[in-house]
Amino acid sequence: MTGPDRRLAVLGGLATLSACAGQTSKSFPGVSPAGFSPADWPPKLAPIRAHRDRLFDITVCLRPFRAAGPRMDTETIGDALVIHNYGHGGSGWSLSWGSAALALEKAMSKSPKSIAVIGCGALGLAAATTALRAGLDVTIYCKDLVQQARSSRASGLWTPDSRIAMTKDAAPGFAQTWERMARISWKTYRDYLGLPGNPIEFRDRYMLSDGGPGGGEGNQGFAEYSHSIEDLTPRSVALPAKATPFPVAFVRRTSTLQFNVHDWGHQLLSDIRAMGGKIVMREFHSPAEFGQLPEKVVINCTGYGARALMGDNSIIPVRGQIGWLIPQPEVTYGVYYNDVSIVSRSDGIVVQALEGGDLKGFNNDHEVPERAESEDAVDVIEKLYSRFGT
Ligand SMILES: Cc1cc2nc3c(=O)[nH]c(=O)nc-3n(C[C@H](O)[C@H](O)[C@H](O)COP(=O)(O)OP(=O)(O)OC[C@H]3O[C@@H](n4cnc5c(N)ncnc54)[C@H](O)[C@@H]3O)c2cc1C
Repeated sequence: MTGPDRRLAVLGGLATLSACAGQTSKSFPGVSPAGFSPADWPPKLAPIRAHRDRLFDITVCLRPFRAAGPRMDTETIGDALVIHNYGHGGSGWSLSWGSAALALEKAMSKSPKSIAVIGCGALGLAAATTALRAGLDVTIYCKDLVQQARSSRASGLWTPDSRIAMTKDAAPGFAQTWERMARISWKTYRDYLGLPGNPIEFRDRYMLSDGGPGGGEGNQGFAEYSHSIEDLTPRSVALPAKATPFPVAFVRRTSTLQFNVHDWGHQLLSDIRAMGGKIVMREFHSPAEFGQLPEKVVINCTGYGARALMGDNSIIPVRGQIGWLIPQPEVTYGVYYNDVSIVSRSDGIVVQALEGGDLKGFNNDHEVPERAESEDAVDVIEKLYSRFGT
């Protein structure tokens, strides 16, 4: 079990699944176990049509992981103040607003009228939006717009401490910085709930297990900070046996923030243009070029691209692959089962194989899709749904 979903499962207490499920099946219905009342009884769930021939795309993304945590320091290049804002591992969308707020604080030390943002992925879009909201003139310079950037190939869940640092290598004070970023991001995403098209929404996720304690691979040395924001996020509950149509022994449900990334990217780009932000398509070949820009304050949001551009070998690629099943608007929930994660989004049903823990894909920069990996994951889900409702 890895990354976003291992974290969700652990947050959801999958490690204690068997114990909890045994308890709730005895005590429900009639008595409401703590955190679960009859009002929480699951709604009717539509089945997922998981078949290999419904895979319409397979994509690969490289998480920009740094053992110390994201690079957020500043340096002077030429006569420009450069604020680095890259290396957010598996948490880039989740932390984007908080990281942008911290970057802008540093930018404001120069009281600029205009700034440059390099990059148009999750981090660049949030930095540009935050700067525009503060009344600055903003120009985004990038090689790819968000639709082509690696950010567009993310699963789209609130996973603020997925592969964000190594416990033993995290920079001093990073846990506090992380908490600040996570809290600002959570609050900002709140502003975008309920918009037409639902780019940001809450969805239920069902963690399924045939038996055994679960708990996956442990944290494998990756830093875990979610406990410090437990007050923000809904708790998971063990559901009683037969409360859902899933043909498994143990089910836990949690509600999580979901980013419908394609909608979301369009929304952010439109907002940026509407606020007067400019976009210039440009590739940089050396950091010295930052110093030649007309803007004298630059926020560097180049993600994994920073490895080559900045010569920053502290960025380690963590490969992740998604198989895309044809969207099913009637499927309004996500699933985690046998190390396969499903996220039902408006732009497709995300199928991700996650066996092997957070280290799956670690130091692997192979960006070519491996079809067999996605087909095998679809098979796991197809088998689950062949017994659905029985
Ligand atoms: C399979 C998978 C699932 C994930 N799921 C989630 C999730 O559910 N939730 C979550 O929060 N995170 C998730 N992530 C992590 C998230 O995708 C990354 O943290 C995030 O995309 C990083 O965004 P970024 O803006 O830093 O980088 P990018 O998206 O790579 O954007 C970088 C930008 O910089 C530009 N650029 C780079 N180099 C240059 C250059 N030399 N010149 C000009 N422009 C340049 C690029 O064109 C691009 O516009 C996932 C990652 C993977 C692999």
